[in-house]
Amino acid sequence: MLLTISTTHRPADDLGYLLHKHPQRVHEFALPYGTAHVFYPEATEDRCTAALLLEIDPLHIARRGFGVADAAPLGAYVNDRPYVASSYLSVALAKVVGSAMGGRSKERPELAGTPIPLIATLEVVPSRDAGVPRRLFEPLGYRVETSRLANDLLDSPGAAEPALSPYVTLRLEGTVTVAELLTHLYVLMPVLDDAKHYFIGDDEVEKLLSRAGTWLSSHPEREFIATRYLKHQRWFADAALARLSEGAPPLEEEVDAPDVEPAVPATPLNQQRIDAIVAALHGVGAHTVIDLGCGEGRLLGALYEDRDFTRIVGMDVSPWSLRAAGRRLHLDNLPERQRDRLQVMQGSLLYRDARLSGFDAGVLSEVIEHIEPDQLPRLERVVFGEAHPNAVIVTTPNRDFNARIPALAADERRHRDHRFEWSRAEFGDWATSVAERFGYSAEVGGIGEADPALGSPTQVAVFRA
Ligand code: SAH
Repeated sequence: MLLTISTTHRPADDLGYLLHKHPQRVHEFALPYGTAHVFYPEATEDRCTAALLLEIDPLHIARRGFGVADAAPLGAYVNDRPYVASSYLSVALAKVVGSAMGGRSKERPELAGTPIPLIATLEVVPSRDAGVPRRLFEPLGYRVETSRLANDLLDSPGAAEPALSPYVTLRLEGTVTVAELLTHLYVLMPVLDDAKHYFIGDDEVEKLLSRAGTWLSSHPEREFIATRYLKHQRWFADAALARLSEGAPPLEEEVDAPDVEPAVPATPLNQQRIDAIVAALHGVGAHTVIDLGCGEGRLLGALYEDRDFTRIVGMDVSPWSLRAAGRRLHLDNLPERQRDRLQVMQGSLLYRDARLSGFDAGVLSEVIEHIEPDQLPRLERVVFGEAHPNAVIVTTPNRDFNARIPALAADERRHRDHRFEWSRAEFGDWATSVAERFGYSAEVGGIGEADPALGSPTQVAVFRA
């Protein structure tokens, strides 16, 4: 496992003071699972690179079985642990550069607190989805580059195309303090790796919070990070998130539009959206419906109550949302006859999926704005191209209306996870373009009390094949 950290801050070889490791020497540290070496391939005033090489003892892993897929024969002995960045790296960082991670430097105390240009390169990082490193590191101010490694091992003989390697080389470039960079790596490497942790234990919540408390609470992926870091131990993750969000806005709730005319007993926008979608589904004559990105299943509940809908499927990428939907809809205790009528499944809207085909209508309720704009064409192909229901109903916030929401600062979005919010013009253009490309007609409108100049808080498009 190789990590390098470079700087061009002048004098660059001050990096040695920040890491507490003299650039002219090779340093060696014994770890419970192997040996860490620190050395400097280059150390001049202009540029300095420190390298951390981790030699991991495969027998230690075989004995402890950490992060190794049980299914593979000999997997305990032959596996990726010695090469990839994982929680072994975090443990090594804490041991080898712990005081640098704490921001302490005897010789250069001021520099230790100063953001300097830093580049970190991790040669082998497990990441099937190259979007994940960006989601994790970009909000922290890094420029993120990944290049997928060639796959020389996993092809099955005769396969037409080589299978993609699940590993990338990750390069992070940013102007941060050395302590920040090390802490980000400490917390996020195990998150990227997502294998069983070397160090999962009772004090993990404390470790996570003490290392990441300040930046994690405002990170848009904090739930994902806490959960993966704590390796799907939901209880720990909940505890960590609860403590992080003290004083912060609740995770799932969007800043919805306030009621414009408080005198009228207002239906919450959320409910108005559900009512409008159900009405639109009736309007297109749908009986079988798939709710794409169903979240916690509020719309599914409304559809379930309505006899007109004979087959209702909810799909979401988030297992936690699906679990919440399961509880809300009592999926475990549905009467026998209803079990085929209402189902949920996990899936991603970014991958072609035969299970999405064969419905009268698909719903994307407040989902598209959670997708990175450059990934949206994939969703379009999957939903409008491949699944191709007779009708698709899409809702999304109307950015024009944000000026009416006092809780929002200028240019602030309604939810931290929103990757964009479109004006009416932008949504209209998108709907027209999707309709043209995939053989639909599109009708665009609004949901919720409209402002005469700014339109409704929610926009909706009804596509018909
Ligand atoms: N439709 C619900 C939830 C909206 S929140 C409602 O209207 O209240 C957005 C949902 O989209 C989340 O539940 C999120 O998990 C899901 N989502 C985000 N990206 C997704 C993807 N690539 N595939 C499937 N679901 C996704």
